[in-house]
Amino acid sequence: MAGERFQTGPCPYYKQCGGCKYLHLSYEKQLEEKRRTVRELMQSHCKVHPVIGMEEPWHYRHKVISAFGLDERGVPVSGIYEERSHRIVRVERCAIEAPEADAILQTVRGLLRSFKIQVYDEDSGRGLLRYVLIRSGRFTGQVMVVLVTASPVFPSRRNFVEALLKAHPEITTVVQNVNARTDSLILGDRYQTLYGKGYIEDALCGCRFRISPASFYQVNPVQAQKLYEKAVELAGLTGKETAVDAYCGTGTIGIVAAGRAGKVLGVESNPEAVRDAVANAKENGVKNIRFYRDDAGHFLKSCAADGERVDVLFLDPPRAGSSPEFLEAASLLRPSRIVYVSCDPVTLERDVGLLEKAGYWAREVWPVDMFPWTGSTEAVCLLEPKAKPQKNFRRNGGYRDGRAEAKGKHAKGEGIH
Ligand code: SAH
Repeated sequence: MAGERFQTGPCPYYKQCGGCKYLHLSYEKQLEEKRRTVRELMQSHCKVHPVIGMEEPWHYRHKVISAFGLDERGVPVSGIYEERSHRIVRVERCAIEAPEADAILQTVRGLLRSFKIQVYDEDSGRGLLRYVLIRSGRFTGQVMVVLVTASPVFPSRRNFVEALLKAHPEITTVVQNVNARTDSLILGDRYQTLYGKGYIEDALCGCRFRISPASFYQVNPVQAQKLYEKAVELAGLTGKETAVDAYCGTGTIGIVAAGRAGKVLGVESNPEAVRDAVANAKENGVKNIRFYRDDAGHFLKSCAADGERVDVLFLDPPRAGSSPEFLEAASLLRPSRIVYVSCDPVTLERDVGLLEKAGYWAREVWPVDMFPWTGSTEAVCLLEPKAKPQKNFRRNGGYRDGRAEAKGKHAKGEGIH
């Protein structure tokens, strides 16, 4: 296994980077550790299965971000920010990133010198190149390079891109993103496609997905496939159900589930991801799915107020978990299955606790190792209604909003597809 190198001779950036906190453990020990974390939080709720691990847990990250800047001596560097600091750790190869990204970044570093392009200096606000984002399709081999610059003016841009493509014919699209902000967000609002389509595609669970620069797409597609298969399996679809895919991103879970459901409603707040989701449904010939650009909690509340029937509810919120508004509306809709995909077991436990007070049982949880060597753990949890509906949500759950507020006109999310 390629990675054994790293265990016998550790990653040179291990301490400064702080990303791979389990690099000192064997992969098996690490999976046990992650199961223990989920067990400690979830075993009082339901059965915790062993972690679904990776066969080859190296070079799995298909989204790589490299920060460009100056070191203490004013020498240009690129790599990752040191944990809890603004210092950039010079990184030339990484054990978990896709190897094609390391090679492209090396070329970019060389081209900066030949084209005399200044890297951005956080202190003075001078210089051009801030970040390079590389996304690659694990199953299609397509590669997107996003050059994040402080200003739209990029001297010799055309020649720079030409030289980059010459060195890496595997690159299928190059995008410039302009980010003049002073906070820590990586992407600004302005994009210009310099080469190719401006997005890449990947394939998962027999479907094809379009990925734009800012859309969420799982960074580990090999494990994402296992995660989505587990989520759809736990949903127990028979072909007749109405399913909601909440926090749907580019529509991945909903599109994979649509073939086994009556119809699917996807909801997502990021407009770019919704556009990708609509294109993905078309590309895959999926006709029984509709996407809404809305806050997931607001959308679900409107569905509850309108008395919509929802049989299966998938939710895949960000690390912060779901909102009380969403969970309250979920319990009012009373789907026969809730499949909660979580990237933070702490917020999963919190939200499962709230759903249990609102009349659901957690049945089982499957941890999936999406981020080998790091401390992150993903998990998918199945919940089902307790036998009798709970009458008073507020008394049981202590939510901010009462059931009465869910009444009224259905403020419909914007139908996109
Ligand atoms: N299910 C998708 C995306 C999961 S990531 C996948 O597996 O690829 C979580 C998504 O939730 C992101 O796309 C983010 O833009 C979206 N999101 C965050 N807060 C939201 C909210 N309040 N309402 C709707 N979507 C939200």
